[in-house]
Amino acid sequence: MSFADLGLSDELLSAVLAAGYDTPTPIQAQAIPSVLMMRDIIGIAQTGTGKTASFVLPMIDVLAHGRARARMPRSLILEPTRELAAQVAENFEKYGVNHKLSMALLIGGVSMGDQVKALEKGVDVLIATPGRLMDLFERGNILLNGCELLVIDEADRMLDMGFIPDIENICTKLPTTRQTLLFSATMPPPIKKLADKFLSNPKYIEV
Ligand code: AMP
Repeated sequence: MSFADLGLSDELLSAVLAAGYDTPTPIQAQAIPSVLMMRDIIGIAQTGTGKTASFVLPMIDVLAHGRARARMPRSLILEPTRELAAQVAENFEKYGVNHKLSMALLIGGVSMGDQVKALEKGVDVLIATPGRLMDLFERGNILLNGCELLVIDEADRMLDMGFIPDIENICTKLPTTRQTLLFSATMPPPIKKLADKFLSNPKYIEV
């Protein structure tokens, strides 16, 4: 199995080559074609398995081929910690070099001013921790009605950190016709319940 078999665009394949990867990891081999086919996914994978690229790569292609809606973010990635959110943003920069996607990193511990300015200019991708996202939403700085692609990453850590009520709240602000990708290292009952409620006919991938 090579990256060329997964359905990614030539631009993405050259970005993957530039990153120095020759072979997709198991989660990438299984998730990338399904994300490109607009399926919902439950991915049971630890960090270190190449999980980040398994959603960032196909998301870039999905977003590049869709049509931007004026100033409305088209996708949202939820991460439990600032560090993980920053890593995902770095991945978007690395793999998205050939695309003109704009993004905003919405994390706590930094001033809201720059985040609000980025949102006002309009961005394609939001990468956020749940607390800061809810703060900005409640202040009226974000419209989530155009978010047709949602990633809930590290769902079991979100659970440990008490973020599930925020995530449920956020899910209700997004369009119901959307693609949702959920990643978790384990599948405790509250995460299973979350997936049953907010994912539609997901493909289950365990690596
Ligand atoms: P992650 O599980 O997303 O945190 O990725 C773990 C590490 O594996 C990161 O440093 C990636 O740059 C690297 N990586 C991701 N995909 C591949 C691949 N297909 N081949 C080699 N390394 C990879």
